[in-house]
Amino acid sequence: MDEFVFVSGRLCLDLAGTMLWRRSTRTESLGSPADLRRWIVSAGVVDDPGLVNSRGLARVRRLREAVYLLVGHWPLGDDADMAVKEALAEVNEAARLPLPKRQLDKSGRATRTGSVDEVLSAVGCDAVDLLSSPQVSQMRECARDDCTRLFVDLSRSGARRWCGMAECGNRQKAATFRRRQKQSEV
Ligand SMILES: [Zn+2]
Repeated sequence: MDEFVFVSGRLCLDLAGTMLWRRSTRTESLGSPADLRRWIVSAGVVDDPGLVNSRGLARVRRLREAVYLLVGHWPLGDDADMAVKEALAEVNEAARLPLPKRQLDKSGRATRTGSVDEVLSAVGCDAVDLLSSPQVSQMRECARDDCTRLFVDLSRSGARRWCGMAECGNRQKAATFRRRQKQSEV
């Protein structure tokens, strides 16, 4: 299995999903600057972010938590908590940074250059786009118990329940099946 999953349909939600099982056994998958570097390359935000240090990691984690808090409280009411208002300011601040630079070479290959600033901007802008678009109403949380991954449901039926079949759908179905078998044995 790949180290990181990209199933959310939005960069900002995929980043939010790098903190797993948020309501139970919170598990950090961006544990080190090297982890972040691999995530950035896997996500395709920039081709090579160069050296990522612990400050860069702290900034990305901070933005990630701001995104998660903000989408969970969206749309903001007048009585929104200070923490949520700060999360909005944090996302907007990231979105003001320079975006990754895209260039095309003569063979038709596109390159994306940038470092941590450009990654923060790409995530911030993605959150701005998501929360200002009708797509925000298609945002869901995975239906598997304890999985707190968010995704945008772009299925035609609008009935997608799992962040991913392999990760959660099949496991949840197997658990339900076992539970039903147990009940029928009693
Ligand atoms: Zn899930």
